Amino acid sequence: MFPAALVNLFIPAKCIVCGQTLLKDERHICLNCKADMPFTYYNLYADGARPVANPMADAFNVLVQKEMEDAPYEPYVPAVALFFYQEGYKNITQALKYHGNIPAGRYFASLLAEKLSACGLEGLDAVIPVPLHWKRRFKRGFNQAQVIASEVARILGAPLRTDILYRRSSTGTQTRLSGEARTANVVGAFGARPGRFVASGSGTIGPKILLIDDVFTTGSTMYACYSALKASYPAGRIAIATLAFVP
Ligand SMILES: [Zn+2]
Repeated sequence: MFPAALVNLFIPAKCIVCGQTLLKDERHICLNCKADMPFTYYNLYADGARPVANPMADAFNVLVQKEMEDAPYEPYVPAVALFFYQEGYKNITQALKYHGNIPAGRYFASLLAEKLSACGLEGLDAVIPVPLHWKRRFKRGFNQAQVIASEVARILGAPLRTDILYRRSSTGTQTRLSGEARTANVVGAFGARPGRFVASGSGTIGPKILLIDDVFTTGSTMYACYSALKASYPAGRIAIATLAFVP
């Protein structure tokens, strides 16, 4: 990441989406691409009153309802993505994950945080990134979900917590697997350490948690994290957010 920052000093900055050289006042994305940004606007209705469709939340809640049949009541899990994973715009998450463009990751995370700040996610007890297995983190040098989560936590004024959720096993790459196979591949891959929150006033209200990843595809990874957190914090109220949603 440090060499990338150095390189940026000498090469004129290009728009992450279209590749055009940026003007003096533009950062990471040109004004045209920013104006055309395919925002999901899921944040407008994250509290459950949803006059527009949110297929990301629907897909996630199907997983929750299916897997947690025995649970007495599972509230609808709010889910927000900043933008649709489309041609050009998918460069944003790829630049962060595969090319270590952390400044761009932080910038788009700040846009996500702005959307989240106005959708009932105040008073969070924790912002938690989807963890990488330590081996992969070591190889990559950073966890892309944590880059996003730390910026979101900073802007929302909520604690970033990386001490609760952990990855048990190094699951193989997910990209070649079908939806069901992905779910099977990651179930049990995460654990959550219990007793990490100071009990609030009554002690009956669970911690309010925002779970963060870079991209939402099938939701299986985030669902595996969700169920690990629920196992340790049954009263926890969990929302999920990503930079991109693959429709
Ligand atoms: Zn552009």
